[in-house]
Amino acid sequence: MADTEFDVIIIGSGPGGYVTAIRSAQLGFKTAIVEREHLGGICLNWGCIPTKALLRSAEIYHYMQHAKDYGLVAEKIGFDAKAVVQRSRAVSGRLNMGVGGLLKKNKVQVIWGEARLGKAGEVIVADPSKAPMQPQHAPPRGTLGAGTYKGKHIIIATGARPRVLPGLEPDGKLVWTYFEAMVPPEMPKSLLVVGSGAIGIEFASFYHAMGVDVTVVEIVDQIMPVEDAEIAKIAQKQLEKRGLKIKTGAKVSALKKSANSVTATIEQGGNKSELTVDRVISAVGVVGNIENLGLEALGVKTEKGCIVIDGFGRTNVPGLYAIGDVAGPPMLAHKAEHEGVICVEKIKGLDAHPMDKNRIPGCTYCQPQVASVGLTEAKAKAAGREIKVGRFPFLANGKAIALGEDQGLVKTIFDARTGELLGAHMVGAEVTELIQGFVIAMGLETTEEELIHTVFPHPTLSEMMHESVLDAYGRVIHM
Ligand SMILES: Cc1cc2nc3c(=O)[nH]c(=O)nc-3n(C[C@H](O)[C@H](O)[C@H](O)COP(=O)(O)OP(=O)(O)OC[C@H]3O[C@@H](n4cnc5c(N)ncnc54)[C@H](O)[C@@H]3O)c2cc1C
Repeated sequence: MADTEFDVIIIGSGPGGYVTAIRSAQLGFKTAIVEREHLGGICLNWGCIPTKALLRSAEIYHYMQHAKDYGLVAEKIGFDAKAVVQRSRAVSGRLNMGVGGLLKKNKVQVIWGEARLGKAGEVIVADPSKAPMQPQHAPPRGTLGAGTYKGKHIIIATGARPRVLPGLEPDGKLVWTYFEAMVPPEMPKSLLVVGSGAIGIEFASFYHAMGVDVTVVEIVDQIMPVEDAEIAKIAQKQLEKRGLKIKTGAKVSALKKSANSVTATIEQGGNKSELTVDRVISAVGVVGNIENLGLEALGVKTEKGCIVIDGFGRTNVPGLYAIGDVAGPPMLAHKAEHEGVICVEKIKGLDAHPMDKNRIPGCTYCQPQVASVGLTEAKAKAAGREIKVGRFPFLANGKAIALGEDQGLVKTIFDARTGELLGAHMVGAEVTELIQGFVIAMGLETTEEELIHTVFPHPTLSEMMHESVLDAYGRVIHM
């Protein structure tokens, strides 16, 4: 095979692309990955990882302010906003380099540049310095550059970008997307966050913890709209208790900009009000990067800004696949990774299982955290399932009390007839680490009986998972 010919070419090196590339190489495919900007994609550079670094600083700052609650003395507490951002960027940088190392170790060829599809089986790569997106890192050593490459299988993993709503167009200065929100030159005094999905709520939580006066506006009548309504309500109450202002069933209908502030018109329940803030974060969702890829010429089907695929990442065009954010929701890094692995294993002819979107966990790392998997109570009912619901509050868990984290809930939903675990929903400290227990349980098609007979270590927050299951079956112990 010539140097420019590969079994598999992947466009985009986000978590979907680079994990797929490594698995592809493990399967013995000659593999290349094309990237125009930064190894690791949005997740490592502008998404999952740098936000968690920011939120960690905010969390520690919060605990320092509450040192007295733990019998500790902390004086002259403060922060250096630049250093907080620098730490977050350094965390991203470290992982970005790590991805380069992993690709090299697995003998994946990196091609640096902006890719588009040519005729069937062809990827044309242009010099990234001439592309609208300027590379944020120098190409790793040993990379190939602009040229035409041939791939027996081509996987599109180009990710997504912020959704822009008319009237709420980001300008990089006063109206931010997650890009600007991640690297504030200084802390604003007041902030309006439009949209309360995971991205909006995480930024709201971060800035509020750093002393910013934050208002969140959400168009539907609950925050974190995909979450179970009861859990979202508890999260909202906790966020409000900390001082965040939240308006649900409300809409930002206009923004008026001044030199260093923005006045938003907010419509809620037939009333109009105005709010003047230093900065606005538009967090109204993301849309797939499907443009300028040459999809139209090949007749690739797209829908609502994403590429249409089957459960194995196959598009309607033979030899062409799509995975991750560009292939539709849920737009999460772990979904992208898993989708890519399934896709390339199917190409290899392995007995791959199609993606089951009902078993993809979702986590929001605000304070308190929110995590879930499977059906919400409302969705289970709407699907006509007869259900049993268990609940266990953090208030009754020894470890939660010892940690000083006694607010939250673990909720489980079972099929009343079969005992199948349909969904699990949590709000409170560290629930983003706990949820995987229920994800595994669902994956193994565990019933209530097996969960009840499982031994959970004491004292842990995980005991609440057990108690929640017991509660669903009228056997709760510590309540
Ligand atoms: C602020 C924020 C926080 C988030 N937090 C979480 C979280 O906690 N957990 C979670 O699971 N998800 C989180 N996400 C979502 C997560 O980042 C995405 O789901 C994930 O990055 C999608 O991976 P991907 O591989 O599909 O695409 P991306 O990560 O977007 O990567 C796509 C890559 O393709 C490259 N590319 C695009 N077009 C071309 C082209 N034509 N040629 C060459 N290269 C190209 C891009 O430069 C990019 O590097 C967050 C997102 C944001 C914005």
